Amino acid sequence: MSNNTLTIVVPCFNEEEVLPETTKELGQILTDLMSKGKISEASKILFVNDGSKDKTWEIISDYCTKFNYVAGIKFSRNYGHQNALIAGMTTANDYSDMVITIDADLQDDVNAIPEMVDKYLEGYDVVYGVRNSRETDTVFKRKTALAYYSIMGKLGVKLVPNSADYRLLSKRATSSLLQYKEHNLFLRGMVPLVGYRSTKVYYARKERYAGESKYPLKKMMNFAFDGITSFSVAPIHLIMNLGILIVLVSLIMMIYVLVRKGMGDVVTGWSSLMVSIWFVGGVQLISISMIGEYVGKVFSEVKQRPRYVIEEDKFTPKAREEHKK
Ligand code: UDP
Ligand code: MG
Repeated sequence: MSNNTLTIVVPCFNEEEVLPETTKELGQILTDLMSKGKISEASKILFVNDGSKDKTWEIISDYCTKFNYVAGIKFSRNYGHQNALIAGMTTANDYSDMVITIDADLQDDVNAIPEMVDKYLEGYDVVYGVRNSRETDTVFKRKTALAYYSIMGKLGVKLVPNSADYRLLSKRATSSLLQYKEHNLFLRGMVPLVGYRSTKVYYARKERYAGESKYPLKKMMNFAFDGITSFSVAPIHLIMNLGILIVLVSLIMMIYVLVRKGMGDVVTGWSSLMVSIWFVGGVQLISISMIGEYVGKVFSEVKQRPRYVIEEDKFTPKAREEHKK
């Protein structure tokens, strides 16, 4: 295989409005890099159609026949952004030396791609795309994002601030990432765990080129919560600490109640009730959280479901053909 084959993985969910422009801009970057000899002629854009309901797959199929550097895979249904990225990387990695992932909507500046490739050629395995401004995001999104990074930091999850899923990974970094078999995917948290030499490339985040966000608030909140629960057992520890605190309070209550009883000014039955409510409540919270600890571990391990199902693959045959040459 020729050296330095790049595959740009682009997840697409109902993106018919942006696809022509995205293909044009990415194609331009790709052919530029090829003519400069920085990447091989076998480099490609790999669109992952994540169960789109519109003409997305028709457009991708059409481009696959028109352009040699366009390929696509089609999911059997919508599996979500993170799974689309994993599928793209899995499919691409056999025939690529580096993989770049980028959203279809051109919010991430495609001009950072040549810089990422340069960093790869300098010997970096992981190149994060980091936005240096969030002016085009709403105040709400900016504030919540900031709060989220700080919470995640306190929970001990290392994230690269202001970087999303726009990044370059070398072949070995991709392979290592793909060995993480968890199903609650939170890729931006997983990539730093992979290690290797990494660096950042800065760019300005733009407005969506066309169409509307495929991440409504509910999807965004689910994703954020997934990020916490699949990376940290801190919430369970919190419950346990609460339980311990309540048991301690119950001990103080016990002393207080005994003193009052000694003074003889209480209703019959009050003392024993007060003590047991607090004590038993605390013991129950601790016990539940202990069980939760184990259930949480089982939960993340046991669901050995496939992360996605590919219905049609227009990438592998193309790549294999070129591989033979
Ligand atoms: N996307 C996807 N599957 C989904 C939702 C989104 O593949 O279920 C893709 C979408 O087509 C886009 C990327 O994920 O390429 C990011 O989505 P979007 O731009 O709508 O999110 P935002 O930038 O608003 O957070
Ligand atoms: Mg977007």
